Parts: sequence; structure tokens; C-alpha cells
Amino acid sequence: ALILAIETSCDETSAAVIRGGKEILSNVVSSQIDVHVRFGGVVPEIASRKHVETITLIMEQAVKESGCALKDLTAIAVTQGPGLVGALLVGIVAAKSLSLALDIPLIGTHHIAGHIYANELVHQLEYPCMALVVSGGHTELVLLESEGEFRVVGRTRDDAVGEAYDKVARALQLPYPGGPHIDRLAAEAQNVIELPRAWLEADSYDFSFSGLKSAVLAVINQTRMKGLELDEAALARGFQESVIDVLVAKALRAVKQFGAKQLLLCGGVAANRGLRAALTSRCGEEGVKLLIPPGSLCTDNAAMIGAAAHLKLKRGQFTELDMKADPALPLEQWSLSKNE
Ligand code: ATP
Ligand code: MG
Ligand code: FE
Repeated sequence: ALILAIETSCDETSAAVIRGGKEILSNVVSSQIDVHVRFGGVVPEIASRKHVETITLIMEQAVKESGCALKDLTAIAVTQGPGLVGALLVGIVAAKSLSLALDIPLIGTHHIAGHIYANELVHQLEYPCMALVVSGGHTELVLLESEGEFRVVGRTRDDAVGEAYDKVARALQLPYPGGPHIDRLAAEAQNVIELPRAWLEADSYDFSFSGLKSAVLAVINQTRMKGLELDEAALARGFQESVIDVLVAKALRAVKQFGAKQLLLCGGVAANRGLRAALTSRCGEEGVKLLIPPGSLCTDNAAMIGAAAHLKLKRGQFTELDMKADPALPLEQWSLSKNE
């Protein structure tokens, strides 16, 4: 089966052709970062307009690079949510038109299911498994009892990790998106400014990062007020260590409690070198099998949407043509069993 997948939930316009849910025939990603960077973040109206300008080209390129013809396609997959509503709509309109024109089924797909199933493009999942989703808008521990069954066992109560990275970077006057810059600074640091860890209740798998962000801002302000020079690298290191300590500890505790056979790291923040290294070493010590997709499949891309959509294709679960963008689509609701 050949799926043409489309992703436009935020600031990447992407299209991919996936064979058999595993094989990437093409995965074209066009990032809008350069147009948003001067605003210090994604401007929704501009994102939608940029998607409109590029979507047709990106789809054509994905089909061309795949070596397939449009008539070979089995289904069209598109991100239905969560994301920016105007941005989602552009991909959805394109997907609906193609589905109608080619008379092939449409599969509305969950963006976070995509981030999770990016792992399936390079690894073999074994169930039950636990996914640690760390992205710009989400920080969640998701238990998968079986294929395509999602249960969120913990989530952030305030900021997502990526969001916290971006806000801290902004306070340090680093360009958007700030995650990679903090990552680099932390790696270069000679010292560490110790910051608090938000463990929450002893048995909770929830996260909180807004207190940590405030602690970082307080250090920056106090240093400035005293007229001292700020060791930005040490602050980045302290922030990153606090984030990583909590993520790693909670993920490993969840793996044990729910008897997961694997831990999956997914989402844009999975590109973080400190997090990858800390998880790799802890999982090694504790004999937990860790799966991490390559960086290009961690950030937003359409190949991951094709991988998740394939689960529904296999079961003949298709989406009606009157489907609407859902900026807050719940992950659990997208589970295969909810569709039967
Ligand atoms: P969501 O998937 O929740 O809808 P999103 O699609 O905007 O949000 P992603 O594209 O998955 O998010 O990830 C982008 C985030 O990842 C940004 O916040 C960015 O700063 C962060 N990020 C990217 N690389 C790194 C890194 N090396 N270290 C830390 N954070 C990073
Ligand atoms: Mg993005
Ligand atoms: Fe994403």
C-alpha cells in the first residue's frame, strides 16, 4: 500500500510517500523558520499563508521523488490535529481535493500519534511500550498496550518542554527556535547554575516546567540588577539538567510500573543531545530497550504521519470527506479501538 501523507500543523510544510507503513519513498520538508525567526516565534497567520504558497509544490515534489505515479496511491493521509487551525486547514483542503480527484480514501491523522510512530519507520515496536513525547506543544508519557492504542499516563500541567526551551532561549536573546541553542550552550558549559526540579506528587507522571522557567528568569534578572556578568552556558546547563533529570526519572519509573518492553523517545526535543545521552545511559544501566528515531524524523515531517495513518489503513478505518481540522484533537480518541 502506498500512502501520500501531508503535514501542515505548525511551521513545516511536508509531504511524503510511504510504502507498507515502513518504507520512506520520499519525505519533503519545507521549514518556515526563516520567516518566523524575526518575530521570535510562529505567527499563525503567516504560517497559513506560507503553507498555501508551498503545499502544491511540496506534494508534487514528494510524488516525483518517490518514483510513483498519482494513480498508484492507495490513500491520502493528513494531520487533522492538534495544531494551528489555519495551518491544519491548508493540508486538509489539499488532502480532501486529492482524495476526491483520485477517488481514494482519506485518513485524518493525529500529529502526536505521528511523532510516536516515527519510531516504526526505523525500528520494530514491541507492546506494551511507553512513549516519552517531548515537543514544542506536548510533554507526555503515553502507554501503548497494543498497536495504535494510546493511553496518556502523564502530561505537563503548564509549559511543554520545547516551549520552556524556547522561552528560556528568548530570555537569553537567542534566536527562535531556541532548543538547539540551549543544547549547544549546555554542552559547552564549564560550570552549572543549580536550579530546582519539579517532581510533583511522589506517584505522579505529570510534569511542570513553568516554575523552572521562572527560576531561570529570576537568575537572569538578579544577575543584571547586580551588574554582574551572566554565565549563560552555566545557566543553560542548569536548566537542561533539571529538565533531563525529571524526564528520565519519570520515564523509567513509568516503564517499570506498566511493564513496558521498550521506551520510545519522540518529538522535536528528542533531538536534544543531553537528553539522548542521559536516556541512553540510564536505559543501558537498567536494561531498558530505548528507541530513538533519527533527528530528521523527530521534528515535524509527513513520513511520521504516513506511518501512523498506515495503522488505520490496515484496518480499513477511513475518514469522511467532511472531516474538520481539530486543533485540540485528543490522542486517546484517535486509538484504533475507538473507531470500530
Ligand atoms: P507539537 O508536536 O507538540 O505539536 P511542534 O510540532 O511545534 O509541537 P516539534 O516540531 O515536534 O514541535 O518540536 C519543536 C520543538 O523542539 C521546539 O520547541 C524546539 O526548540 C525543540 N527542539 C529542537 N531541537 C532541540 C534540541 N536540540 N534541544 C532542545 N529542544 C529542541
Ligand atoms: Mg516546527
Ligand atoms: Fe510536532
